Formats: sequence, structure tokens, C-alpha cells
Amino acid sequence: MVKSRGGVVFRTVDDRVEYLIVKSSRGNYYGLPKGRVDGNESETQTARREILEETNYFVKFEVNFKEKVEFVLPEGEDKEMILFLAKAIKESSGEIDDEITEVIWCSYQEAMKLLSFDDFKDVLKKANDYINNNQLTFIESRCGILCTQCEYRESMNCQMCINIDNPFWGTCKVKECCENKKLEHCGQCKEFPCQLLESFAYDKGQGDDGKRIKQCRMWSK
Ligand code: SF4
Ligand code: SF4
Repeated sequence: MVKSRGGVVFRTVDDRVEYLIVKSSRGNYYGLPKGRVDGNESETQTARREILEETNYFVKFEVNFKEKVEFVLPEGEDKEMILFLAKAIKESSGEIDDEITEVIWCSYQEAMKLLSFDDFKDVLKKANDYINNNQLTFIESRCGILCTQCEYRESMNCQMCINIDNPFWGTCKVKECCENKKLEHCGQCKEFPCQLLESFAYDKGQGDDGKRIKQCRMWSK
């Protein structure tokens, strides 16, 4: 089984929603950014890496949107594609994958015309309906901190907990533990809230009086 992960990436410009479509030289088609699972990656780790490699955008994922598409490749192998809803937060200065020849921001209608396969169109339609009908809830960290509200994000040029391997201040045991368990955030853990997380949340100097634990509970609802 070939496993591929990626996302419907969007941004808002003056209240208009725009979607990111990529053109691949392999097969010469317009699609959504995605690619194969590498080693022991979790689903969103692959999606995040592939989106960054194919579009140069760091993203944050909407907690409750995940679409699975299954089909058989022309060579006869089964393929499973999982696509998340992801909001673009910042462009990276890196290089885009050679196999991507175009990265296009466009409206929903333009994207529906461009996409080469019905499977992609179905997922884009579901994502667009989801954006229009729901209050979006993005996971920003493993421990529940809202990185978008962090005073160090700009000054330390941090791409947020979910987009980095290690924080600027060293290695985070909570992040490491959560990612080793292949969880999106600690609220999904059977041991939540564990002693380690509590010690972070209620630390006298660095803690937030349990605010991050409450945030994880909200993400789990
Ligand atoms: S404390 Fe650790 S888990 Fe929480 S946001 Fe920072 S790096 Fe991520
Ligand atoms: S709640 Fe504790 S044990 Fe569970 S993933 Fe988070 S840090 Fe690890």
C-alpha cells in the first residue's frame, strides 16, 4: 500500500478564501500538495513536510478535518491518500521540489476548474463547505500553547511548535513525547494531563497556570 499525506492549503485575503494548487511535472497534472510517508512520520508530520517541500509554506492544521481517498494506481498497487485542512501561516525562503512546476493561489471556482482529478475536487469541495460552515480550530502546539500569541514568535523567527523539530530554547520533552506517540496534541493522550505536562503548565517561572491544559481540552472536544 502506497501511503500519501498532504492538504488543502488555504489563506484569506480581504475576507476571500484562496486555495493553493500545485502543478506536478510527473504526469503533468494540477493537484493538491502531498507526498509519500517517510519512515516513522505521523500523518501530519508527512503532510507538513510535503506541503513545505512542494509549496514553501508553513501551515497549521484544522483539528477536525481529515479526508481519506483510496484508489488503485495504474501499476496495480493500492494507494491511500489522507488530506488535512491547513491554513498557510508563513512563506519559507527555501527551494520548492523540482517536480513542482507551478504553485498557484486561486479562488475556489478557479481551483475546481484547474484540478485534474475528481478525487481532489471532492476533497476541495468538502474543505470549502467546512470553512463556510464551521468555526475553525487550529492546533498550534503539542502542549496546548497558542504559538500565534507567543511574544517570542516574531523575534525568534519561530515557525510554531508543529512546524519545527525543536524550539529555539532547546529540546522540549512534551513535544518529543507527544510526537513519539504520533499524537497531534496532548489532549489526545490516554495519560492526559500527565505529570510532565502539569509541571510545564504550572511551572512558577515559565508556566501559564494550566491555560495550555484547558486549550488541549478544547481541541479534544
Ligand atoms: S512548550 Fe514544547 S510542546 Fe509546548 S509549544 Fe513549546 S515546544 Fe511546543
Ligand atoms: S500528556 Fe504527557 S504523556 Fe501524554 S503525550 Fe503529552 S507529555 Fe506525553
